[in-house]
Amino acid sequence: MKTTRIAYSHRLNAGKYAALVEQARRLGRVRSEVWQRYASVGGARLTDRQVRDGWLADGTHRQFGVLANAWKETVRDAMADITANFEAAKVPVRRAIRRHTSDPAQRRRLFGLLKADRWAEDPYLSRLMRSRWRRGHNRTRDQIVVRADQHNTRVDARGRLWLAVPGLVRRQLVRIPLNTTFVPTGTLRLILRGDRVEIHYQIDAAMMKTSQRPCGEATIGVDKGYTEALTDSDGNYHGEGLGHLLTTESDRLKERNRRRAKVRSVANTAALRGNHAKADRIARNNLGAIKRDRQAGRHQARVRTEIFTAVHRVVDTAAIVVAEDLTKTFAGRKQFGRNTNRRLAAWTKGVTAEALTNVSERRGSALVHVNAAYTSQVCHRCGALGHRSGDRLHCTSCGVVWQADVNAAINVLRRHGDPDITLRTPHHVVKQIVQARADRHRSRLPLPDSSPARQAESESSEVLSNEQ
Ligand SMILES: [Zn+2]
Repeated sequence: MKTTRIAYSHRLNAGKYAALVEQARRLGRVRSEVWQRYASVGGARLTDRQVRDGWLADGTHRQFGVLANAWKETVRDAMADITANFEAAKVPVRRAIRRHTSDPAQRRRLFGLLKADRWAEDPYLSRLMRSRWRRGHNRTRDQIVVRADQHNTRVDARGRLWLAVPGLVRRQLVRIPLNTTFVPTGTLRLILRGDRVEIHYQIDAAMMKTSQRPCGEATIGVDKGYTEALTDSDGNYHGEGLGHLLTTESDRLKERNRRRAKVRSVANTAALRGNHAKADRIARNNLGAIKRDRQAGRHQARVRTEIFTAVHRVVDTAAIVVAEDLTKTFAGRKQFGRNTNRRLAAWTKGVTAEALTNVSERRGSALVHVNAAYTSQVCHRCGALGHRSGDRLHCTSCGVVWQADVNAAINVLRRHGDPDITLRTPHHVVKQIVQARADRHRSRLPLPDSSPARQAESESSEVLSNEQ
């Protein structure tokens, strides 16, 4: 499993930056040429090696004014982008094939041709590809891909790490001071953004220190929160700084947007009055994206750390983590405020999903997704639908008030191995089952089935009944 790391240049001088920008611009022309020639649904699908050999034979590469390794790596990268573009087109085509025929042999033949990029051999398939495929264009003009054996690093007397990459002149490396002492390795992708170089590279997740930590032995249910990243079925909170991080960011964004709107209206007024110099100056100095993007990047890094740390803490004790599938697109079970908050909440949900999968895979714990419908509304002791107010769940049937997230996490845990409610059980059916169970509990009838989760019920409710 690979994971992407980013290092940044630190106080790179303007001359070097300009040289890198020029190199990236020329390589952007290489990319455009590749897209122009080889991203055609009617043309033959070549490998990047074939493209390279073709260019060397006909001299195409000479027009770009870049070093051989640079254009070759760029061709490889652009060909990979084109492949991704075609793979995306194949998804609706496969769906269309399934609708078109139910004959297994015919389907197998069409899927096979599609997979081997040989759609041109079948008129029906060829027509489908033409209609579903959207021609892409190169928009990348700010990137330089550097092969693993083309760069090196050195630490100077003051302990600063310098990365040396090829420039436009043979044997003259461009040395970039970095903001980290962690040496970037493998193929590097340099992205030139806002007077700064971002160095993107992949590391093997198994090499990360946190991947060496063993997982625990328990089976634990978790519920995703807003104030804290996760609440577990043992009543522990993880990532308790998340809520504060999100509220301060949301407040900061609101204030900043209000200020920018004001400045923008001043610029618009100036432009209307014909003072374009002033309008341009405001746009350049007061409405720039560099500082804004950097602040957003810093905030995102902090949130990611908080969430990943929370998941690590759960996995410290868990061999099996039971959770709702947070990658599902339906609106979450919890309501948050408008716009900004909702966007932040949706984004953190994605990060939590990523962290659960990533950390489980690296540390060898199992992640089990369960159907979480009604888990935040049902009292885990008696099964009745409770009344939610703030972070409390008041059970109208047994009269107990639970901490809502802990109650939800226990319900999530019990969905693991629930004989009636599976991942595919529709929402309204879950509701029927939940109500039937509550009714049975109320009338004190013996249960027709006795799953292990139910037997554990009395124990875990004891643990929590002193909550309120
Ligand atoms: Zn109850």
